[in-house]
Amino acid sequence: MSEARARAAVLEDVAYDVDLVLAADAQTFESTSSIRFTCTQAGETTFLELADGAEVVMTLNGQRLAPEAYDGRRITLADLPVANEVRVSARLPYVTNGDGMHRFVDPVDGETYVSAYCGMDNTQRVFACFDQPDLKAPIALSVSADERWTVLATGRRLAPLTPGRWRFAATPPIPTYSFVVCAGPWQSTVFEHAGGSFGWHARRSLSAELERDAAELRQVTIACWDHYAATFDEPYPFADYHQVFVPGLNWGAQENPGCVTYRDELLPAGRISDQMRQRRAIVIAHEMAHMWFGNLVTMRWFDDAWLSESFADYMGFAVADRAAGFADTWVDFDATYLPMAYDADGRRSTHPVAPDTEDLVDVDTAYGNFDSLSYAKGNAVVRQLVTWLGEADFLAGVNTYLTRHRFATASLVDFVAALSEASGRDVARWVKVWLRSTGFDTLVVTREAGVPVLSRTGSRPHRLRVTSYDLVDGALRPAGTRTVDLGEDPVTIPEGRDRVVVANSHGDTFARLRLDDQSLAAVKAGLATVPDPTTRAVLWTALGDLVQRAELDPSDYLDLVDGHLPSEGHGSVFEAVLNRARCDVVAQYVPAHRVGAAVDLIAAVCRRTLDRSAAAPIALAAVRGLAATSRDTALLGSWLAEDRTHTGMALDPRLRWEVLLRLAETGAAGAPGLVEAERRRDPSMTGQLGAARASAALPDPAAKTAAWDAMFGGEPSNRLFAATAEGFWSAEQHELLAPYVGRYLDQAPALAARRGQAFSLIVGHAFPTISLGAAGLSLLDAALDGDVPTVLRRTWEDRRDDLALAVAAQRRFG
Ligand SMILES: [Zn+2]
Repeated sequence: MSEARARAAVLEDVAYDVDLVLAADAQTFESTSSIRFTCTQAGETTFLELADGAEVVMTLNGQRLAPEAYDGRRITLADLPVANEVRVSARLPYVTNGDGMHRFVDPVDGETYVSAYCGMDNTQRVFACFDQPDLKAPIALSVSADERWTVLATGRRLAPLTPGRWRFAATPPIPTYSFVVCAGPWQSTVFEHAGGSFGWHARRSLSAELERDAAELRQVTIACWDHYAATFDEPYPFADYHQVFVPGLNWGAQENPGCVTYRDELLPAGRISDQMRQRRAIVIAHEMAHMWFGNLVTMRWFDDAWLSESFADYMGFAVADRAAGFADTWVDFDATYLPMAYDADGRRSTHPVAPDTEDLVDVDTAYGNFDSLSYAKGNAVVRQLVTWLGEADFLAGVNTYLTRHRFATASLVDFVAALSEASGRDVARWVKVWLRSTGFDTLVVTREAGVPVLSRTGSRPHRLRVTSYDLVDGALRPAGTRTVDLGEDPVTIPEGRDRVVVANSHGDTFARLRLDDQSLAAVKAGLATVPDPTTRAVLWTALGDLVQRAELDPSDYLDLVDGHLPSEGHGSVFEAVLNRARCDVVAQYVPAHRVGAAVDLIAAVCRRTLDRSAAAPIALAAVRGLAATSRDTALLGSWLAEDRTHTGMALDPRLRWEVLLRLAETGAAGAPGLVEAERRRDPSMTGQLGAARASAALPDPAAKTAAWDAMFGGEPSNRLFAATAEGFWSAEQHELLAPYVGRYLDQAPALAARRGQAFSLIVGHAFPTISLGAAGLSLLDAALDGDVPTVLRRTWEDRRDDLALAVAAQRRFG
């Protein structure tokens, strides 16, 4: 980081001319980068980054540099005059891990796609550059590629010179991390809107899916576009607007200026669920917000990544809801994403939403901060900021900020200054407690003579709504809601006398919730009857907290799931609670010998939900839950054979693979043969991953050995590794898998070190999901005493903190 700062201090007016030769059938590509820049202090020495280059030829101001100037990572540029031009050509490797120029061969039709995934500091794997966010520069690109291909990139596409030769006009100044090029025989759907050119692109083998969703993708794009055009003073800063579903992307999506990439799981084969349609709309709105927040105005260093991400995350949910017609985005946020933020905020790795520059010593450390705190908590804090300032003042401040720093870089201080000017309020003080400090406040309700008194632990001001309920025949009926400003002084809620009281009933603020005993008892009895799904989400989260704090027996929590979830009326709440129960409470909090019975309880909940013919989103979640937990292999087998469930829901490729995973995991007769037959029936990437996942799940020592060797012995792609690991660990195969815990802790660091930043995160996510108990905790502590690469260490420390809570709960409730 200090090197980046020193380099930025002496460099100005950087501009790139990049030429790439992407042959369709090679392990490497050719990259030539011509860079003009000014060195403000003549005689200085600085460096360019270039990773893993071969046949590197370097010229500085017409003079050939000696090969020693390149050490495999950096090119030293010594004794610089003021005006400089450096030219670097090299042969660089394609990757399959999503860090750099990712090459993918589609198993369906054998077509090749190569795309540059540059996020953070991976542009140096694509061309020689000054790879840091505050050295923004125009980039002009030329590409030679297969004549049959389409090449998409940042920058306006110019008329092709010759077949197979593509050129793109120089972009406005952009950060290197946002460079992109996507080359391959893309299937495209294009349209014009508001004087601009728009396109959606996907692999050719996903043509049917692209056609299925084209109208909606276009409608959502236009709705978001028009909303931002009306909201921001600054016009859209770049050329065309292309959106590409790409294979093997490690991020959910990436906001490259004018050419956004999405992981192509967002264009699923078969059916697309309502929930995924909504989440995809949120991502579309999120990435488009980055064109202004992040691309037009860029953070100076990654300490302010939150400034882009929290804002874009908030806009994603708000704009998909308000402009694109997805009315339930905030329920999904409260049910699914907020609990992750509270968890993250309780771990040792917690950091202020806006961390100190000094804490982010390098890019690997900064990478770890693209987490639930920068996204979900940041989003929640922006939501509270909008509530506190009022939307008009908030947007006025945003516009001042964008205009003042257009095409340049800025920081939190600049943002606060703009908001203070627009609102006339002391935003700096608000920012100090909300953005510069870690942790959450807890809203506490106590009673004085039956009258609820609301207070908070912590130091933040909150504006929130409080709802009172009457408990009538086991049902909770709202008796009134009011808005409260809560600070140091407790607030009395007189209308809540002898009633049930729920603070933050509408999810306005970011705070944990501690119910009073009377309300807690009533909520346990009548949770499913609370009319507002947001309030139910808030309450389920509060109950989950009690499990984490070892104040509620995990089996009592599962009884509440058993009692209330089958009558849950909202898909997002149903799915979030089901996942929490299955993947967190059952897999971590329930002792190993009781896991089987707990899984059966989840299966029964799903079955009862299906039998009452729930609405489509809930039915789909229940089918998936049942497919993941049922021991009724005859039922699951009949689903496969009929290609529909016993309730009449048609299966799709994803569901078929989920059923096969369970048949394999339970060791059903004939499972390996069924997996093999399905693999032949579905040759797509989904099929390959599904087969790897299911084969790894077989409760058979030979299958486990084979899966392990594939993960740790070979060079699997990022997706293949993740899928194999998902199948491999099964909470119900404790005995078979226990010996692998030590092996995982032993071998993961070397693998992570070898395969880089994003892959390290995937290795970290391959952490054992079996009940580990106190013995597992000791093993993990010993492993953490060793040498563990930064990104992997962060995920392990997080698992360690989660595990400590689970072990404490197991100790208490045995
Ligand atoms: Zn983002």
